[in-house]
Amino acid sequence: MNPAIEIQNLRYRYHDGTEALRGVSFRINSGDCVGLLGPNGSGKSTLLLHLNGILPDNHGAHGAVRIHGLEATHKNLESIRRQVGLVFQDPDDQLFCPTVAEDVAFGPQQLGLAQVEVKERVRKALAQVGLPDFGPRATHHLSHGEKRRVCLAGVLACEPSVLVLDEPTSDLDPRGRREFKALLRELPATKLIATHDLELVVELCPRAIILDRGVVVADGSTPVLLSDEPLMLAHGLEKPHILFHRHPH
Ligand code: ADP
Repeated sequence: MNPAIEIQNLRYRYHDGTEALRGVSFRINSGDCVGLLGPNGSGKSTLLLHLNGILPDNHGAHGAVRIHGLEATHKNLESIRRQVGLVFQDPDDQLFCPTVAEDVAFGPQQLGLAQVEVKERVRKALAQVGLPDFGPRATHHLSHGEKRRVCLAGVLACEPSVLVLDEPTSDLDPRGRREFKALLRELPATKLIATHDLELVVELCPRAIILDRGVVVADGSTPVLLSDEPLMLAHGLEKPHILFHRHPH
């Protein structure tokens, strides 16, 4: 079976000459949940944007991204975007309709679904993220945590097989983080989560990939990588407290 995500020697240079990705390769099997770690500026967001073809600028990109075996090129973009749901780091970059229901409906409408099916998808997605009655609410009056849930609902309403999340728990309060993690755990999609929230990685992702300066510097079992203090420190990370409490007596 083809991996859900396959990245092969991916390089990307922004217009100003910044080399954000310098030969990244990895595969993620269907149904897996993988944490993508690395200091600021290591290339995580740039990598995620390639997964649904937001950045396949032919001048800047080299290498290949495949989703279930299908290459993320211009000609396949529509199929790729049906399969990959990307949740942006900043909800305000993602939400743009006046009401929650309209926002969540936007993706399914783009998929060309019938109105009755769109409505059902919106209902289901809002229930999934724990906001069943939020449809008529004004998007710009929501709290930050609610906005994040609405963004996720908008992506879930498209029923993607691959879910890509950029810093999903940053600036959530502890309860918001807990609820968001519980929600992610329930979703059957293949997940790639870029985050500085190491507890989330320990709890949800059996595998972690560490990126630094546009290259993969480690890829393996989360408890092994995150317990490796020299490795973590060398790449601007730290051993999470949660692992300090796991020593058997
Ligand atoms: P991360 O998500 O790990 O913080 P990014 O993918 O945002 O890393 O950034 C990787 C590198 O690319 C950084 O050096 C950053 O400054 C640069 N970069 C990001 N976006 C742009 C852009 N639009 N134009 C030029 N350089 C950029």
